Amino acid sequence: MKNKRYPRKYSRDEDFEELYNHFEQLFCPSFWGFEIGPGWFEIIADFVIKLDYHLRRNPNMIREKYIIMQVKEKFGSLRIYLHSSDFYLNSLIAETEKQAANSCTICGKKVEKVFGVWSSMCEKHIKEIV
Ligand SMILES: [Zn+2]
Repeated sequence: MKNKRYPRKYSRDEDFEELYNHFEQLFCPSFWGFEIGPGWFEIIADFVIKLDYHLRRNPNMIREKYIIMQVKEKFGSLRIYLHSSDFYLNSLIAETEKQAANSCTICGKKVEKVFGVWSSMCEKHIKEIV
C-alpha cells in the first residue's frame, strides 16, 4: 500500500491495512491505498462503515457500482472518489470531507486557524513537520 511518509510514531498503516482487508469488496481492484495522513483514519473508517451499511440496507443497489476508486489528500483537503454515487453518498462524502478539513492530518485533533489561515495540520504538527 502506498502512503505518504509521516513521522513513524504517528503511523497507522496497520489500521489502514485492516480497514481495507475487512471491506475489500468495497474498493476498486486497482485501489492505490489511502493517500492520507494517519490523523484522518477515524474519519475515513467511519465513511467506509457508513458506505457498507448503506449498501446493505439497499440490496437493490449494485455494490460494484459504488466502489471506492480513490482516497487522497489534495491541496490539504480530503478527496473521496466513488465509481458512482447517489444523493445520500454525495452528502456523506461532503460531510466527511468537511470533517477532515477541521482535523489535523497527523493527529486528528481539531484544527484552529494558524497564522490567520486554515491548515490541514494543528499548530503543534506544523511546527514539528515543516
Ligand atoms: Zn496535529
